Amino acid sequence: MASRSHVDVVLVEPQKSENIGACARAMANTGLGRLVLVRPRVSRPELMEAAATRLGEGILRSARICRSLPEALAPYPVTAAATARAGAQRGSPVSPRALAEELLRPAPGGNDPPPAALVFGTERDGLSNADLRLCALAVTIPTHSPEESSLNLAQAVLLLGYELLLAAGGEPPQPLPVLPAPAEDFERAAGDLERVLYEIGFLPERDPGRWFMNVKKILRRSGLTRGECDLIQGICRQIRWAAGNGLPPGRAPWPGGGAPAKAAEETGPENAPLPEPAGGRERGQDKEPASCRPGTGRGKGAEAGNGPEGGG
Ligand code: SAH
Repeated sequence: MASRSHVDVVLVEPQKSENIGACARAMANTGLGRLVLVRPRVSRPELMEAAATRLGEGILRSARICRSLPEALAPYPVTAAATARAGAQRGSPVSPRALAEELLRPAPGGNDPPPAALVFGTERDGLSNADLRLCALAVTIPTHSPEESSLNLAQAVLLLGYELLLAAGGEPPQPLPVLPAPAEDFERAAGDLERVLYEIGFLPERDPGRWFMNVKKILRRSGLTRGECDLIQGICRQIRWAAGNGLPPGRAPWPGGGAPAKAAEETGPENAPLPEPAGGRERGQDKEPASCRPGTGRGKGAEAGNGPEGGG
């Protein structure tokens, strides 16, 4: 049976000592790796230890404590958020079975699977949208009805651990095509791109992170390697430089083929192809950015969907 010890459990601001203990026990039951606690509140350590039992003792003792979720996720190439609530901005969650198979995929070349973090939210509110944006994958455990979707924290850990246990006894899954960059490198590159897109006016001033989700989705889908993250940062540096200094002096005209790119004054920033924010637009929440406001562009193209060819 394939090992699951590369899958760590991250609890974001757990409030109840006994839940932390019960999570450690569930991890021991199902053979998961390390426990990572983000700003835990342990008011009753004796309850935590009792709930962990002897089985979870070692996992509790070696728990890693972090101040923030980005700090907790930094080393992991694979990250998944467990969420009871699907919703506009909360991505498309996969099933526990599909997630288990994904987390067991070996690194390229058929080596061991890369380290993975399975992230759980606080008992009262679950994970925030910002927390979810830090994870590549989302998983929802099916329940009887949407009204009864909220499981006890430790039971959610147990169910996902159980699916991993079952999947580990099955056929070995396909290796990953590339080794994804650790979350720290991915977030740095994505953060840089988000900032530069904001600075050049592509993202709106209000809630740019929400609009950037669409771009982040593309980056996620391509499973960026560490080197590719560096490349994106290099591109951002050059865009930022050119935005401040103009085109490099003496730069020869574009030598490649294809249609010449339209000048900004010809297309207008309002024709830039920015799609709806992830999960669709919630009424009254967002003023749309100039770059995707319908009807303000020149010509029909702007109304017909803001494609790059629009307005021509
Ligand atoms: N009241 C919160 C639920 C918190 S339960 C809410 O409505 O979101 C604590 C954590 O357990 C959640 O943040 C999530 O990580 C996990 N969890 C609970 N139910 C789940 C479910 N049906 N699917 C996936 N994760 C779940």
